[in-house]
This record gives sequence, C-alpha cells and structure tokens, in this order.
Amino acid sequence: MKFDSKLIHGGISTDKTTGAVSVPIYQTSTYQQTELGGTPTYEYSRTGNPTRQALEELIAELENGSRGLAFASGSAAIHTVFMMFSKGDHVVVGNDVYGGTFRLLNTVLNRLGLEFTAVDTRDLAAVKAAIKENTKALYLETPTNPLLHVSDLAALSELAHENNLKVIVDNTFATPYLQRPLDLGADIVVHSASKYLGGHSDLVAGLAVTKDSADGEQLAYLQNAIGAILGPQDSWLLQRGIKTLAVRMKAHNENTKAIFEFLQQHEKVAKIYYPGDPNNPDYELAKKQMRDFGGMLSFELQPGANVKAFIEALDLITLAESLGSVESLIEVPAIMTHGAIPREIRLRDGISDELIRLSVGIEDKADLLADLNQALTRA
Ligand SMILES: *Cc1c(COP(=O)(O)O)cnc(C)c1O
Repeated sequence: MKFDSKLIHGGISTDKTTGAVSVPIYQTSTYQQTELGGTPTYEYSRTGNPTRQALEELIAELENGSRGLAFASGSAAIHTVFMMFSKGDHVVVGNDVYGGTFRLLNTVLNRLGLEFTAVDTRDLAAVKAAIKENTKALYLETPTNPLLHVSDLAALSELAHENNLKVIVDNTFATPYLQRPLDLGADIVVHSASKYLGGHSDLVAGLAVTKDSADGEQLAYLQNAIGAILGPQDSWLLQRGIKTLAVRMKAHNENTKAIFEFLQQHEKVAKIYYPGDPNNPDYELAKKQMRDFGGMLSFELQPGANVKAFIEALDLITLAESLGSVESLIEVPAIMTHGAIPREIRLRDGISDELIRLSVGIEDKADLLADLNQALTRA
C-alpha cells in the first residue's frame, strides 16, 4: 500500500468487534476479566486501550517502525524516551532543538545525572568530537525549529552506530509524509502530534516509534511505568487528523513555496530560512532526504523595520505559538516559543530577537499573500 493510502487504512482502521469504520472511543479505565489469573488483551487503560492501540499501530506503520506509542504530549513522549537512559549517561543533542526540549534536558533531566552536549548536527565532525566514553545517543531535529536547518540522517546514523549510539529524531516538522528517519538509519522517532499530525490546533499529543522491537518493549514498559499516556478521546481525534495528512501536506508545501517566492522579492525582507530555497546550503540534502520542503519558513525584516507593527497588522494570519495546523500561525521565537533559551545561547545559534517564524496554513494562497503584503507596508 502506498503511504497516502496507509494514512487512511493503516494500523487498525476499523473496529474488530462491530465493523465500525471509525474506531470507537473506548472510554473505559478497566476491562472485565473472564477468568482469574488469565492473560487478557486489555486489563487497564494506562497499560493498553483499543482506541490508543489503533493509533499506535498506525504511527508504527507510517514510520516503518516495529512499535508505536502514544503520549499525553510531545514533551511527555520525549521525556519517556530519555528515561531509557540512566544516571551518568551522556547524549549528544542538536543545538537548534525545540525550546521545551532544551528546557527539559537542561533544567530537569540534568538534575537526575544525565549529561548533554549541544552541537550543530549539520557538522559531522562536531558530532564526532562530542562523542565521549559514556555517550549513549544522538538526539536531533531536522528540519530544525525555527531555523529550518537540515541534517543528514543517513550519515549521522552511520557515525552514531559506529560508536554504538542510538539515534533519536524529532520528526515533528517533517512528519512521515515528508521524511521517514527510521528508513534512513535512525532508531527512534518522536513527534509532537499537536502539530501536523493532529493538524487542526485542537489537540496536544505525542508519539514515539522504535525500529527495533527490544527498544519498543523497553519504551512500552516506561510508558506504562511513567503513565503519561494519551487518553482515548484524544487518540481518536489524532487518528482522525492523520487521515488527511497527505492532502494537508500538499497544500502546506504549495502555499509555502508561493510565500517564499513572494517574500524573496519583497524589499522589506532581509533574510529567509527555508529548505526549499535553492540558495540555502541545505537545499540539495533536503531535496534528497525529504519528499518536499514542508510548511515552515522563518524570516527577518530589513534592519529598522517594525516587527511588532507588521505582526499586529496581520489580519488572517494568527499570532500564536504552535505550528502545523490548517490555519496560518506566526510568532517571534525569541519572545515566544524559544523564550526559555538564554539570550546569549539563542543569539549564538542564530535566533535573533527579530526572527519571525511562519507556519503556513492551507488557506487560499491569494488571501495569505494579500495579508502579508498589506502588513509589510506597515512594518
Ligand atoms: C511542539 C514541539 C514539541 C513539544 O510537543 P508538545 O506536544 O507541545 O508537548 C517537541 N518538538 C517539536 C519540534 C515541537 O514543535
């Protein structure tokens, strides 16, 4: 089955008991057992729930992994994955990861004796140099947030495996529609499904997929032990959202290309970060590694332009955190999504105070271009 069909028919797509074409919301905490000491399929909904399982099997199939697991948020998924490591373990981490991931690693998990080194994962030599005796994994995003840097997953996986490291990829920005890290050598994929997979800004959820079944067993054990699971209603809503991922991603890709071309010729725009820009140093790699360039783009206005006036003049494009939804969302990472990162680290990594991140929605592109155009005249 082709990927776009798997979105609709993959995993468990109809209910085994009733034939319902939409898997029902099994709103139950526990399950009647027919014999004492038996081995029931479901015993308690933290451990397993049929609605969640339908979603978990779907994401495993979409990422070409062996085991999928659903969590209460992307952060919960990332946290649970990091609990595979122990005190004294070291992880090499991309320096341009989601702000909340940075916060989790550097203010929470560091207190439990996990060590992290941040590097630019586009630079293989830097990654290699950061590997130490106690390094257990490489954790990265590609494309990154908010600069849309692209790292070579195949080359990094090869380097990591030579050093016995697990490769963990946050695939939130690309989704399995654009890129499947496990096929390129990664071991574990995580998602904030609150973004493209859910797709409608109506859900907070996380997913993880392992390539290897032993990793899958360990992660399922941790999911049950820690308990940050996704409930049945949100599991249902997420599966519903995933069914339209292909049509949404096509529209996101197309609108983003149009906006890139518009911004590129606009005198008030100084710099654009977009992997689909043929002049972007990551362009060839993005073309090879991804099916298309995605729906995210960041940019800077000319020095002296008024960012606040521009953003507040926007009518259709909504000022909000988050991304990956049907509606276009705009934000300034320095004071919103990446506010938790100390300013000097942010600036060093290229996230200026004026950087603007746009998550391009699937509205009519003429409306989006008109909105940007009128707002830019106020900047
Ligand atoms: C939003 C996001 C997360 C965190 O996910 P939540 O669902 O908000 O907890 C992690 N990684 C990336 C790339 C994100 O965009």
